Amino acid sequence: MAEPSTLLLGLLFLAVAAGWVLGRGASSRDAADEQTPPSQYYLGLNFLLDGEQESALKAFSEALAVNAETFETHITFGSLLRKRGEVDNAIKIHQSLLSRTRLPDVQKNQAHLELAKDFIVAGLLDRAEQLLKDLIELSEDHEADAKTLLIDVCEASRDWSQARLLAESQLTQTVSQPEPAAKLKAGKIREKLSHYCCEDAEDHELKNDAQGARALAQEALKWNEDGVWPQIILARLDQQEGQPARAYDRLAAAAELLPERFPELVNELISLSTVLDRHNGFTSLVERLLKRREDPQIRVILADAYIVSGQDARARDVIKQGLESKPSSLLLARALALLGDNVIDGSLVAGAHKLAARQSAYLCGVCGFHGPSFYWQCPGCKSWDTLYRPVR
Ligand SMILES: [Zn+2]
Repeated sequence: MAEPSTLLLGLLFLAVAAGWVLGRGASSRDAADEQTPPSQYYLGLNFLLDGEQESALKAFSEALAVNAETFETHITFGSLLRKRGEVDNAIKIHQSLLSRTRLPDVQKNQAHLELAKDFIVAGLLDRAEQLLKDLIELSEDHEADAKTLLIDVCEASRDWSQARLLAESQLTQTVSQPEPAAKLKAGKIREKLSHYCCEDAEDHELKNDAQGARALAQEALKWNEDGVWPQIILARLDQQEGQPARAYDRLAAAAELLPERFPELVNELISLSTVLDRHNGFTSLVERLLKRREDPQIRVILADAYIVSGQDARARDVIKQGLESKPSSLLLARALALLGDNVIDGSLVAGAHKLAARQSAYLCGVCGFHGPSFYWQCPGCKSWDTLYRPVR
């Protein structure tokens, strides 16, 4: 168990002092069993002074009377502990709140919700799931919050069909709201539904259920017709069914729709263009995309396409133009490589490559997570479709 920090104990010490005064005021209305024994408070202080933080925490928690007035203090303290990673202690506090019979239902339900959050952080997903399902049944006030948390649980346990059901019910509730913000929220939920269908489709692919995977990818497009991920899945399925031309057209259309996602599907497109002998068509697609989006990565793809067709001079030109208009370490590395070893020291090329590889990592626009691989869901903040390649 993590040691509670001195700062937190200090806060609890103050909370007990304040809570005890409040609790004493309230005790004239509450039952005698909720009166605070001040001895616990002094005991906690002794533990604190002796450096026995674990025991001090326990004594203070017991000393702080639980009633309508001090309830929020307990909740705040519990969530503080959870945020600091002391989730075991947070669970103890919230479980002790739930054991009080005299709390009003609305506060019990709030403690329920907090305990579910503790379980999620502790990785006890089954227990969180059961708590949240009960809460959705029990409390209209907490239903929306509980549903949002339950969706997080479904995402973590990859239960995509339940995640979809919950998100669909969120969507029904959201579209019935008149506020302008509801429209934006509904759009976000639709995008999320599309991602859930894609996750589910890929799980079906792993189980060799191509038909199920195709139906789910089509449903993903129903939720978000501009989605790139469903097209990548459908293109894979097209190829398995011996339809490479359909797969190529699908991916080329997706790239034109969203050029910033082009590098995520380019390898598939290149191998399809080889199979179909469509190299010239592919090259002009990349030329069109580069005109729409000045991106060093697209420039490098175009240079490679020129080299494949033996147009080395054009490849050098396209990199040179990039270095003039928007220099980047990636372009520099490619320029050095293209100049060849008669001009350049090999270790210099390797150094530039290393620099470019380090800088072409993906970056999350929400939380700043960065890494070398692409994910549809950010491993840091769990947001969907937020990883981008910083243009350097
Ligand atoms: Zn993130």
